[in-house]
Amino acid sequence: MANSPRDNLARWLRDAHSMEVGTLDDLRRLASRIESYPQLKARIEQHIRESEGQERRLKELLESMGESTSALKETATKLAGNVQALVGTFFSDEMLKNAIATYAFEHFEIGNYRALITTAEQAGETRAVSVLQQNLREEEEMARWLEQHLPEITRQYLQLDASDQGGKT
Ligand code: MG
Ligand code: FE
Repeated sequence: MANSPRDNLARWLRDAHSMEVGTLDDLRRLASRIESYPQLKARIEQHIRESEGQERRLKELLESMGESTSALKETATKLAGNVQALVGTFFSDEMLKNAIATYAFEHFEIGNYRALITTAEQAGETRAVSVLQQNLREEEEMARWLEQHLPEITRQYLQLDASDQGGKT
């Protein structure tokens, strides 16, 4: 059976919602174990709050489109596992690897939101376009922050590791 852009939009918005639920899991886990990196921790915590907003926005958007959101939680649980499988390949006990995986994952989110914006445009869903652009901006800002700070985070890691002060966590 053929799927309209609107059908795909609704389906992919659900996936995006699951992606955000998975992101929140990973970010919370990461934030709880980076005490030695206060600047990174603060930025991750900011992005947790942003991601909570993104998750809420996507849910409200689906509701405003007349889509049922009762199954979201179940789908989220299922897909959160997939997100973890993707990120889990990179995530390890090393803080630096986690920071790099977060950087990669922000770009995964960016790609998804870009495709969703095009789909929403094709479906003529103007409200969806602006909601998705807002989410996209936050992912881009997070990716940019990580890009700018990865050298410094790496230096901090090396310094801590050299002095045996817990660089690995
Ligand atoms: Mg996000
Ligand atoms: Fe993000």
